[in-house]
Amino acid sequence: MDSHAPSLVDMHFHVGLLGDDGSGLGGMSPEYRKSLAYKTFLYFAGIAEDAVSDKLLREKTLETIRASAVGKVVCLALDPVYDIAGMRQTGQSNLWVDNRYILELRDHLPDRILFGASVHPYDPDFRTRVHLCVENGAVLLKWLPSAQHINLADDRVREALIFLATAGAGGKPLPLLLHVGPEYAIMSTDSRSGSYDYLTWSAWDGFVNFWRFHKRWYVPDVSAIRRTIEAGLQAGAVIIFAHCGLPYFFSGPMGRLLEHSDFPEVREYLRNSDRGLYAGGCYADVSAFATPFRKRYAQALRDLPQEYLLMGSDFPTPIFDTAPDARAVNRAFRSFMRTGDVRYLVVPQENLLDVNVREIEGLLGKGSPVFTNFARLLGREGWARLIR
Ligand SMILES: [Zn+2]
Repeated sequence: MDSHAPSLVDMHFHVGLLGDDGSGLGGMSPEYRKSLAYKTFLYFAGIAEDAVSDKLLREKTLETIRASAVGKVVCLALDPVYDIAGMRQTGQSNLWVDNRYILELRDHLPDRILFGASVHPYDPDFRTRVHLCVENGAVLLKWLPSAQHINLADDRVREALIFLATAGAGGKPLPLLLHVGPEYAIMSTDSRSGSYDYLTWSAWDGFVNFWRFHKRWYVPDVSAIRRTIEAGLQAGAVIIFAHCGLPYFFSGPMGRLLEHSDFPEVREYLRNSDRGLYAGGCYADVSAFATPFRKRYAQALRDLPQEYLLMGSDFPTPIFDTAPDARAVNRAFRSFMRTGDVRYLVVPQENLLDVNVREIEGLLGKGSPVFTNFARLLGREGWARLIR
């Protein structure tokens, strides 16, 4: 790997702020800060829980990117919840990240950071805000439906998708990075919205849901969701399905009983896109795949049209070195013996973005187009505008 190969892009990288510095650029709820996900993220970001502050989160974020051999990193904002009436509700958001925070980070590392914007489709100012993000160099728009309370069957989502088809620089599409499949990173403040990340709903999903009793999830209107997505694609929208819609922990026939998968649906969208059925296009990212849990999906990933897969890490979601070399194992063990800190045995001591690249190389091969597809997706024009 060349150091800072400019077209090597990690297109799925999360940032966050506690909201303790009064900047108003983001926040995390007290409930979120009690969650296992939050504690795990700090662990992998190398931040002690009693030392965490917005200042440290900023520093560690920039340090991780600066030290990486990845050319560019798309840092993702996350708009707060907007309620059904279109009112902004930071109080209902367990985690939110303002678009301006990404711009602030980019000011520190303008050659390395790309702007992943987030604007909620229920915001009556959606179009104006998206335009502003594009003027500021946004390369994609991020939605996490469960945590942001976005029902994909809502008419406003269809209108937003059609708008995004021409909202990018020069009337090109602004790609939507859409989380699909099970979500564990940011729990929703609405216990019923877990299903908002699903594109499909099986009889088994219905059965599992029955036993949730008073915590039953909304039953998604899957045909309306499909109509929405297809209307967007027909208008020319570009949609990136995060994690290929795959489960995180389980695989195989038993896995299907334990964890929902939207992979067959995502695969169909990708294949239809490959056949030229849409004016727009579908992509999927392979973020959060540097884990032993997802190793078994290697063949399924290789069977997808490779030009439509994009490399991301989903940092600070755990990144494991599943094939460490002897020197790394030795070093980790010695550090553990010296300090008694088990972190050394679990968290790779190398730059995690680089470990992620190596893991994806292990899954899809060194010369895979997955590493440069994002640069290609932005197109020569978009890339020339951003590259320095
Ligand atoms: Zn993510």
